[in-house]
Amino acid sequence: MDKFEILSQLEEHGFKAYIVGGYVRDYLLGIESCDVDITTSATPVEVCEALKISSKENLGCITLKIDGTHIDITTFRKEKNYKDRHPEVTFIDDLEEDLRRRDFTINAICMDKSKRIIDPLNGRDALERRCIETIGNTETKLREDPLRMLRAIRLAAIYGFTLDETILEFIKTNRSLIKSLSYERKKTELDKILCRKEAIEGLNLLKRLRLLETLEIDVPDDFVRTEDVLGCWAELRFADRYPFTKKERAKIEAIRKIVSGQKIDKITLFEHDLEDVLCAGEIMGYSREKIVGMVEAMPIHSPDDLALSNRELVEMLENDIPKMKSVKNDLINRILSGNLLNSVEHIKIYIIENWK
Ligand code: ATP
Ligand code: MG
Repeated sequence: MDKFEILSQLEEHGFKAYIVGGYVRDYLLGIESCDVDITTSATPVEVCEALKISSKENLGCITLKIDGTHIDITTFRKEKNYKDRHPEVTFIDDLEEDLRRRDFTINAICMDKSKRIIDPLNGRDALERRCIETIGNTETKLREDPLRMLRAIRLAAIYGFTLDETILEFIKTNRSLIKSLSYERKKTELDKILCRKEAIEGLNLLKRLRLLETLEIDVPDDFVRTEDVLGCWAELRFADRYPFTKKERAKIEAIRKIVSGQKIDKITLFEHDLEDVLCAGEIMGYSREKIVGMVEAMPIHSPDDLALSNRELVEMLENDIPKMKSVKNDLINRILSGNLLNSVEHIKIYIIENWK
């Protein structure tokens, strides 16, 4: 079942259904988009019945994953009384009213099952003018959900579009409203900027509009965009309250540590995860080939690769456990730097001559 079959099935059951948002916007710009948003007059229960699926509903939205494509099916709605994007939602039957509650005209263009474009709010016109304009009054729209300021900036940066004058004016005088948003929402939007190849344009626009301070992030002048978004975060300084998992924080710290060491050598590779080194390498200007070449040339990759076993080492050092740690570090450094061969014989001679 693909996106167009979903539209057909919903229609066969008497409902209206269209693709809307990013997919249509990108389609008209000739860009391939993997995520699809569908808007329909069917309620979540009716969507499940019509598509013969059982799926959990989340805030009136059914989410499907079909062949790697993420599809959100949302019921036509009216929203009011925003409070950090938890508005009161009323399901409705009118497409145009559903489109009016959205943010920008370029995000309110619809496509039906035969790829026909339905565009009552003239989003296509704004798309052709490469301009981001709110639907209806800018002040009301951006005040209702200040995250829309960040969404506008993201769209402007990734497509190279201009922001309508009223949006720019609003941001200049109301940037502090962004502080009222949850760190989770702010992070999601920042992630969407950082993961694009236009990340630098996005950060520059945030800087130009003096939003970096409001967002409590600091971007270094020599910022480099990395494939892994955590590499980008590692370069930024940001408020503690941005939500990351423990594992993500550990990765950010590891990347920062490697970068602060200023060089990548065999010791760095020995001590860190290859993925972390590769990411730090992007920031430091090391090519992937160079790093992979270094890994291949390493005589040992972990302490377990030492030719002399722990048992043999303990015996040689007569059970002096604290000394063992220093000896092991010394052996690893010498072997990695090519000053000692990783063979039982050479290691034993070295220990006798230097540590006895
Ligand atoms: P992309 O998926 O490429 O990030 P998108 O425009 O599809 O871009 P989504 O977050 O998937 O963004 O949202 C789908 C649609 O829902 C948007 O195009 C827009 O019409 C509407 N929308 C999303 N977030 C908001 C918001 N905060 N305020 C108003 N409308 C929104
Ligand atoms: Mg989308």
